[in-house]
Amino acid sequence: MAATNGSIFGAMLQEFDGAARILNLEPGIWKILTHPKRQITVSCPIQMDNGEIEVFTGYRVQYNITLGPAKGGIRYHPGVTLDEVTALAAWMTWKCAVAHIPFGGGKGGVICDPTKMSKREIEALTRRYVAEIVDAIGPEKDVPAPDVNTNEQIMAWVMDTYSMHVGHTTTSVVTGKPVELGGSLGRREATGRGVMIVTRESAKHVGLSLKGATVAIQGFGNVGSISAELLAEQGAKIVAVTDWKGGVYNPKGLDIAKLLAHVHQNKTVDGFPNAEPLAQERLFTLDVDILIPAALENQITMDNAPEIKAKIVIEGANGPTTPDAHRHLHERGVFVVPDILANSSGVTTSYFEWVQDRYGYFWTEKEVNERLEAKMCESFNAVLQTSLKYKVDMRTAAYIVAIGRVATVTRMRGMYA
Ligand code: NAD
Repeated sequence: MAATNGSIFGAMLQEFDGAARILNLEPGIWKILTHPKRQITVSCPIQMDNGEIEVFTGYRVQYNITLGPAKGGIRYHPGVTLDEVTALAAWMTWKCAVAHIPFGGGKGGVICDPTKMSKREIEALTRRYVAEIVDAIGPEKDVPAPDVNTNEQIMAWVMDTYSMHVGHTTTSVVTGKPVELGGSLGRREATGRGVMIVTRESAKHVGLSLKGATVAIQGFGNVGSISAELLAEQGAKIVAVTDWKGGVYNPKGLDIAKLLAHVHQNKTVDGFPNAEPLAQERLFTLDVDILIPAALENQITMDNAPEIKAKIVIEGANGPTTPDAHRHLHERGVFVVPDILANSSGVTTSYFEWVQDRYGYFWTEKEVNERLEAKMCESFNAVLQTSLKYKVDMRTAAYIVAIGRVATVTRMRGMYA
């Protein structure tokens, strides 16, 4: 998500414009799809543990709800801005449309530093923020989820606060909840599982056997570690992993179960025995078949893209590749699977959670995984066929699919005036 003149929303518009031009999108629909439907700003006064009152600013943006209720996470971070939340809500619109699930795009954020707040303060802030936006959210309106610095516990407080306001328990108002109160089995592993599925499908497409294929992964958190486990199960050789502290490399393949146990104990992959230490930036230069950035934004730039030797790049993280680096990789024939497709299994399984909550009937983990497999293959193929049809890269193709779906329904619904 590289900024354009400092605006993240500007970067989103750049990606949008490229695809909309190829689609020959009519000016009216173009205008509608480049404006957020609703931006809410709230002030949340909280009594802090020291007795003083602080006022935190929160946002909820519902970018587009043509396909269904807005869907998107809530982040707690000192750097949250309305521009960022709006761009993220727009990206959620395209991600849900690529995933072919009946959701629009939304996002929320509160300007705060949760690392400097007590659990009680975070709970108070969460409840007040939800109370301030309570009329705007709901199972049919807008369904939040976790994002940066928010988790299952915070989603449980979101659910409880909303339920207290409407007077009955409403589990389907939020996803990413603990399984005990309406969360879905398989949700925790979903994004890594989806990354494995699109990696497998990409390998098939470029004619690479996954058995013995070498893989380097940036990040060993939720997405990186589950991707590593599941790809290793498929016979791929995970040769390198980096995290916040350092990295490890073993050309014969890392033992992922042992690496997970090491990280559990030491909070980092650094110092893992049976592997060489690897400087973080060297990960991108390794001679591997598949590269998976699964950590942070803007990691593949023109500084390292020319050195990338992988045939396939799977964007497990959101926005890991800058636009110029992406262009460079595509021109060199690297097959890049964009974030809005590669990590869309997270929101797809959130959709499954919402469906199960509304049914009041829960699926086994096997059923969740089978449905996810079918959905991800459907999305991957729709984007691949579009990229072949229009002779464009997979990112532009994903936007064409997404914008096309939202535009079609916008035209069908017509103009309310
Ligand atoms: P996480 O916090 O569980 O893991 C992040 C990992 O990145 C950690 O291992 C951390 O050590 C590592 N990291 C931090 N700085 C690094 C650096 N400089 N170099 C290498 N590694 C570094 O987060 P996550 O849930 O795995 O999310 C990772 C990315 O995937 C984010 O961009 C997130 O937005 C995106 N994503 C996650 C999900 C999901 O369901 N978890 C869904 C969609 C997208």
